[in-house]
Amino acid sequence: MDYLIVGQGLAGTLIGYRLERAGHAVTYVDAPEQTAASAVAAGIVNPITGRRFVKSWRIDDLLPEARQFYRELESYLDRPLWYDLPLVRTLFNRGDENDWLARGGDPAYAGYLIDRPQLGRIPQLTRPAHAYGGVGHSARVDICTLVEAFRSRKRSEGAYFDAAFDYDELLFDGRSRPEWGGRSYDQVIFCEGWRARYNPWFGDLPHGGTKGEVLIVRTEEPPLDRLFKHRVFLVPQPDGTYWVGATSSNRFPDDRPTAANRSYLEERLREVLTVPFAVVDHQAAVRPTVRDRRPMLGAHPDQPALIIFNGLGTKGASLAPLMSKWLLGHLENGEELPAEVSIRRFT
Ligand SMILES: Cc1cc2nc3c(=O)[nH]c(=O)nc-3n(C[C@H](O)[C@H](O)[C@H](O)COP(=O)(O)OP(=O)(O)OC[C@H]3O[C@@H](n4cnc5c(N)ncnc54)[C@H](O)[C@@H]3O)c2cc1C
Repeated sequence: MDYLIVGQGLAGTLIGYRLERAGHAVTYVDAPEQTAASAVAAGIVNPITGRRFVKSWRIDDLLPEARQFYRELESYLDRPLWYDLPLVRTLFNRGDENDWLARGGDPAYAGYLIDRPQLGRIPQLTRPAHAYGGVGHSARVDICTLVEAFRSRKRSEGAYFDAAFDYDELLFDGRSRPEWGGRSYDQVIFCEGWRARYNPWFGDLPHGGTKGEVLIVRTEEPPLDRLFKHRVFLVPQPDGTYWVGATSSNRFPDDRPTAANRSYLEERLREVLTVPFAVVDHQAAVRPTVRDRRPMLGAHPDQPALIIFNGLGTKGASLAPLMSKWLLGHLENGEELPAEVSIRRFT
């Protein structure tokens, strides 16, 4: 089969790789001068989230697939992508601590909640907190490197086009094969992230869109060797900087960084760090969220040649490997998509 993938962020990359590995021909188109969530994300894999310390949706299924699939992509792209990193989060008060301990007693959470975690250099670099909890099975995926390395490989293979895809240029009457750029395809997979709201075939789905801003900062001290969450996330990067973030806003006039959120993040960071820091970058992008907080996969109800892979939301790093596997099974073998992620749930 011949596939055209519109949008080569994390979603487009993973489904494209799976299709190629299954023997299909894939062409990619993206306009990388636009902001993309995948270019800004820290790629944190955090199985325990929220104030009530609950396990993320389907995390027991997502984690093994993610680890194995990113390891495979490491070999394919010949660079590290998956980092097993302990995650330490602060517990603000006794109430938090009690909730944490109670949750940790639940057998379904065995291995996920760690009391009295190793703190590494956290006490040397940050203000003391009431208590700390450790999250097991945490990791970081270098999504940005993955997407960039994959893009340059596809570019060198002549399978990637640098262009803003204009929907009017897709020649498609619903009967013949869709055609774009003088070539026809069996199916087109739309992976445009939050911009899918402008897609004429899939724009009516309940797309959300949550803007996030982050800082990249440097300190003079040797960096932490673990993920740390205290008001903001501090994510040590291989180049010695930290990713610090992120803000979250469902209403936004544009996808650019703002002075107000830069100040907000700097203030939070000053509340956490005891050492001076310098901001070396400030970035923003929009997460492709969905109102019911589940991914959106599947073919257009009337046009089976048009497919969507979207809605990775705030947890693309852990979701995308299994979601792309489900989508491949659906495309290749007609396997039913789970109702929770199929776009049929909206029709
Ligand atoms: C600040 C921030 C922090 C985050 N942190 C984390 C985290 O720690 N862990 C985690 O798991 N997730 C995180 N996420 C979420 C994660 O980034 C997303 O879930 C994931 O990257 C979404 O991938 P995507 O491919 O669907 O969308 P995107 O990465 O946005 O990719 C969409 C692509 O489509 C292209 N495109 C769109 N329209 C067109 C068009 N018409 N023509 C050509 N190209 C087009 C865009 O250029 C873009 O490259 C974060 C997101 C943000 C914004």
